[in-house]
Amino acid sequence: MSKKFAIFGNPVSHSKSPNMHNDAFRFIGCDAVYKKHLLNDGESIAKEFLKHGYSGANITVPFKEIAFKKADEVRGIGLKIKAVNTYINEDGKIIAYNTDAPGFLKAIQDFKDVKNVLILGAGGTAKAASIALYEVGKSVYVLNRSKEKLSFFEAWDIKCYSHDDFEISDFDLVVNATSAGLDNDDLPFIKENLEPVLKNAKYAYDCIYGKMTPFLKLAQKNGCEIKDGTDMLLYQGVLAFELFVGKRADEELIGIMRRALEKV
Ligand code: NDP
Repeated sequence: MSKKFAIFGNPVSHSKSPNMHNDAFRFIGCDAVYKKHLLNDGESIAKEFLKHGYSGANITVPFKEIAFKKADEVRGIGLKIKAVNTYINEDGKIIAYNTDAPGFLKAIQDFKDVKNVLILGAGGTAKAASIALYEVGKSVYVLNRSKEKLSFFEAWDIKCYSHDDFEISDFDLVVNATSAGLDNDDLPFIKENLEPVLKNAKYAYDCIYGKMTPFLKLAQKNGCEIKDGTDMLLYQGVLAFELFVGKRADEELIGIMRRALEKV
């Protein structure tokens, strides 16, 4: 019988994860199927995972935090982020991981000599990127529109700003981890303050993928090397796939997964 995998989310119809994982399973000759699983009630995530006999799953918006709480065991950096995007069924026990954080680090690996990073946003993606960078010794600063979500970062001794109290300073890399620009033309921060920051930065990364966002356009105009979120999506998937099959993905397999993401 085929092994079953899924992505839990709401909405989930837009997800490209099934393309990526089904092509990868086919490529390595593994009899498995990966489907979209629309979940209405996050509280039921663990029960649904086990009831459907899934061997593994990914978790997307808005269930990463509840998935953390409902797992039997969390391993790795997910313990620090308190949110997970991957479940593995180990003999009926749910073992959870966060592959967004290491996926983000892989995505920015070509950005050299980065010491100071400004993260825009304070949601789940900002937490994954910030803790990943903090853990590899970068100086991390977080700027969010509102103050409410900053306490998580302050507990890590990360310098935090809200839009009202930001001090313009020098950063090597600026990361847009907000949803500004996702389905609108918003910048994540007022242009008057963002532009001087980008002018002094070397690199700009937008976690939003497949789109030249207003943030990336402004960064490019101000001389930054830019990159969108496609590689973060790819590498969180590659790292989850490695957990699904218990094997390292080689470059050929990563190429298959990358091409699967490019399919409409
Ligand atoms: P959350 O809903 O958890 O957080 C959204 C954040 O964006 C909040 O900090 C919010 O600020 C801020 N925000 C929203 N709109 C604006 C705006 N107009 N101006 C300034 N700030 C704004 O979202 P996620 O962390 O889950 O996702 C963030 C982004 O990352 C999304 O665009 C998503 O598509 C992308 N993403 C990419 C992935 C990849 O693999 N490449 C993986 C996961 C997400 P406030 O607190 O004030 O509301």
